[in-house]
Amino acid sequence: MNNSTGKLPAVIQVKLANMNSQSLVQALEQLRDLTDNTVYVRTEEVAQSSLGTHPDASLDVPSDWTRARTIPTLNERICNCMNCGLGSTRTRFVFGSGNENADVMVIGEAPGAEEDASGEPFVGRAGQLLNKILDAIEMPRETVYVANIIKCRPPDNRRPNKEEVAQCEPYLHKQIELVKPKVILALGLTAVNTLLRTNHKMGDIRGKVLQYQNTKLIATYHPAALLRNPEWKRATWEDVQMLKKVCEES
Ligand code: SF4
Repeated sequence: MNNSTGKLPAVIQVKLANMNSQSLVQALEQLRDLTDNTVYVRTEEVAQSSLGTHPDASLDVPSDWTRARTIPTLNERICNCMNCGLGSTRTRFVFGSGNENADVMVIGEAPGAEEDASGEPFVGRAGQLLNKILDAIEMPRETVYVANIIKCRPPDNRRPNKEEVAQCEPYLHKQIELVKPKVILALGLTAVNTLLRTNHKMGDIRGKVLQYQNTKLIATYHPAALLRNPEWKRATWEDVQMLKKVCEES
């Protein structure tokens, strides 16, 4: 069959044997949409027992989440995700919250115990400190959008591992695409280095305006780290004042 360009179409067959291949299918579906049916996607279901990370993997997230046009639709499509092991240990999925048309998107690492219990990001002690910091620059919490790199709580608040980040971060990239913030405030090194695909130390990058794709990004300390290291509050204050200035100028 020829397509509208006159070229023979590409036909790619992928077995849904694991979530990486599912991600590939999603990418191919997007490519198909963009290229006027020049890519044909044919998937083949495999027995549940052969699925890798979780027995329900690939069933809980509709493959069309990448085409969600609104934040609530995205939430609806991914909220039952079991793509990594954290899905089976979470109490609540923590999608994100706030102004869906915000100029500023605040991105942290992962839900903690209070967030896991409530389903809301940044509601524990670190969240209360974040609210105070935002109030201090006259950017109240309800005016920004808040999310994490990881949507489910890692047990004992450990740092999420590479596989968990790799499985979950596409959801965050989609959230950013939908919110379209002018500036991202990345809290802590996990957030910064995941978004920028780098391995920076905080001392090297704070105090600068960085770039995530076409969006300005400012890095500062995670409020949970500030609770443990109050001597970092001055630097954080400087960072959020810069955030305010950059936001007003953008
Ligand atoms: S952490 Fe992310 S990828 Fe893992 S189960 Fe939760 S939503 Fe899915």
